[in-house]
Amino acid sequence: MKWAREIAVKPGKKVDLSRFNPDETFGITEDEANADIKEAVKKLGKLQNLLYADRRYAVLIVLQALDAGGKDGTIKHVMSSVNPQGCKVTSFKVPSSEEAAHDFLWRIHKAVPGRGEIGIFNRSQYEDVLVTRVHDLVPKDVWSGRYDQINSFESILNQNNVRVLKFYLHISKDEQKRRFEERITDPAKNWKISASDFTDRERWDDYTKAYEDALTKCNTETAPWYIVPANKKWMRNLIISKEVVKALKEMKLRTPEASIDLSKVKLD
Ligand code: ADP
Repeated sequence: MKWAREIAVKPGKKVDLSRFNPDETFGITEDEANADIKEAVKKLGKLQNLLYADRRYAVLIVLQALDAGGKDGTIKHVMSSVNPQGCKVTSFKVPSSEEAAHDFLWRIHKAVPGRGEIGIFNRSQYEDVLVTRVHDLVPKDVWSGRYDQINSFESILNQNNVRVLKFYLHISKDEQKRRFEERITDPAKNWKISASDFTDRERWDDYTKAYEDALTKCNTETAPWYIVPANKKWMRNLIISKEVVKALKEMKLRTPEASIDLSKVKLD
């Protein structure tokens, strides 16, 4: 795919987000993208059916972004042909008192999809090295140990047939402003704004630094990050739908054999 080299970073290489253009389109037009999205989304539906029947693998899609980055829109569009029976979205919020009483991966592990399923994380384990770090919610020696812990956790998932795909939706500060303004002026979108959106925007640079560290330190062969140009929603939807389809195809999914000898079945 046209963007393959641009959105993936070699494991071990330091990520500098200023080198990734959130407006990038790789020479693709909106019309071309929309036609390809339609096709990819349809394929995704078919492949999910096969994943469900095959029951050997699970797929975990991690979505991370700054506020108004488009996580909800991605889920709505890219997953529109997926059978809800085999798909579960989990949105991670400020930890409840029960969650906070456990290690940070406790609530995450419980939400990992079972074999045959697609799981989508709307925010994820990465909040514990992002918001937690930016807002000093735990001491540095605690959050700094978590990159290795996350890598070990994702490696366990990989070894247990959970394919982990991590997408960082990369928007610019101007685009965030535009989306916030839309949420303020459109009464139907007012509910989407929260006070933390504004305090977090003031910490844009700190978040960028925290993201760069997470994207650098937790970018592995088995659980890679994709840095998705996301100012244009169609570009974002195109890349994510095509990458998920590609990952599903690589699994070489197949329908299992019948569990009974069908030649002996007699129907009246
Ligand atoms: P979203 O912005 O994802 O649509 P919300 O507006 O409810 O949903 O925001 C969820 C909030 O929960 C975010 O501010 C996020 O930083 C916060 N959050 C998620 N995980 C954690 C965590 N582990 N520790 C602290 N805050 C968290």
